[in-house]
Amino acid sequence: MIRHLYDNLMKLAHFPLTGTVLISTIKLNRINRKKMMRRKLVVGNWKMHGSIASNKVLLADVVAGVRNLDAADCVVCVPYPYLCQAQSLLQGTNVAWGAQNMCSTNDGALTGAVSPAMLVDYGCTHVIVGHSERRNLFHETDDTAAARFNAALEAGLVPIFCMGESSEERESDWTEYIVGRQLDSIIRRYGPHVLENAVLAYEPLWAVGSDKPATPQQAQEVHEFIRKRIARCDAQVAAQVRILYGGSVTPANAAQLFAMPDIDGGLIGRASLSAQDFVPICRAASQS
Ligand code: PEP
Repeated sequence: MIRHLYDNLMKLAHFPLTGTVLISTIKLNRINRKKMMRRKLVVGNWKMHGSIASNKVLLADVVAGVRNLDAADCVVCVPYPYLCQAQSLLQGTNVAWGAQNMCSTNDGALTGAVSPAMLVDYGCTHVIVGHSERRNLFHETDDTAAARFNAALEAGLVPIFCMGESSEERESDWTEYIVGRQLDSIIRRYGPHVLENAVLAYEPLWAVGSDKPATPQQAQEVHEFIRKRIARCDAQVAAQVRILYGGSVTPANAAQLFAMPDIDGGLIGRASLSAQDFVPICRAASQS
């Protein structure tokens, strides 16, 4: 009931939608038929792991392992203290680097915060925004995630915006409501066009850090929902935005996930901490 009310309000809030939805859906189908190719992307999220010594080995192995992969992009998001190390070891390679969070302001009396400009100073190209661990353990909200998303874009960074439902929400059939609300927190404030320079990540909370990945079909269903929801506002943006899947991706399941039509790569936690796992995942992306 609340969900339907919310959906209807969102429709009214976005646009004079009725005609637009129809036209956008037709356009999306036409654009999809033309098989718009989205380049695959694999992003490692190291979370709070690493040391100067172990990073050196890991990064050298990843760089060597992905050297000849030319059909996918590869990024590692490292803890702040290692950005300088990532910059010196990854410059000139085909592995880009980024951060796992940032503040939405560029400077000020904000003890402990790291600004978008500081990430740019260290050569970051990407930053994760709204990860479920930030939302749940550090009380970040749709509002604060949206503000950071926008600040990242303004700084010239690519935000990787995470969305996903808990297991209780999935069991109650609230997945589309939760993911739709998180997506709308961006579109409602900044419009659909900002997604042109962003990456989305569907990360169901029950799959992150567990050993229960979504099946390729489960993930595809939500990715398709996300793309269609964007298409209601802008079919061109919907067809081009990369949507990553995250949650217990391993070398064993990566190829099947990446073969799904709306899955454009992965956001990888634990498996990004070992080149033996991360490189085959990047390879699977490049070959899919
Ligand atoms: C993540 O932290 O974003 C993640 C997907 O973790 P894992 O791959 O370990 O489930």
